Amino acid sequence: MSDCLFCKIVAGEVPSTKVHETETTMAFRDINPQARVHILVVPKTHHEDAVELAAADPQLLADVLATGAAVAKAEGIDVSGYRFVFNTGEDAGRTVFHAHLHLLGGELLGMFGRPTG
Ligand code: AMP
Ligand code: ZN
Repeated sequence: MSDCLFCKIVAGEVPSTKVHETETTMAFRDINPQARVHILVVPKTHHEDAVELAAADPQLLADVLATGAAVAKAEGIDVSGYRFVFNTGEDAGRTVFHAHLHLLGGELLGMFGRPTG
């Protein structure tokens, strides 16, 4: 999709800090990290969100998860632990409408759910 930020990152039209790439997926560092390690894994082809991706191409969703696990290992957080997140819709604060897996770790993570305070 021509106006999609993550399609542009996959195409190399927008710069990113790429950490890993496979035939079907790409992983790059989140520009606004929420943990010491915060990496996004995207399918190279455009899908609106994880649910649409699961319906359209389950193998590609599995590829995204496998890339996330490989990156966690490469970052040295596979033993200490990490969190995979897919945000969907307004309440989850979704901002980019190209399916992406957040990989968070590298430190003890906070709780998630309702905002604190
Ligand atoms: P979400 O809220 O699940 O849609 O997450 C979108 C994520 O993309 C956020 O964590 C942003 O910090 C991240 N992001 C936005 N623009 C860029 C960019 N140019 N490079 C890397 N990460 C980005
Ligand atoms: Zn896209």
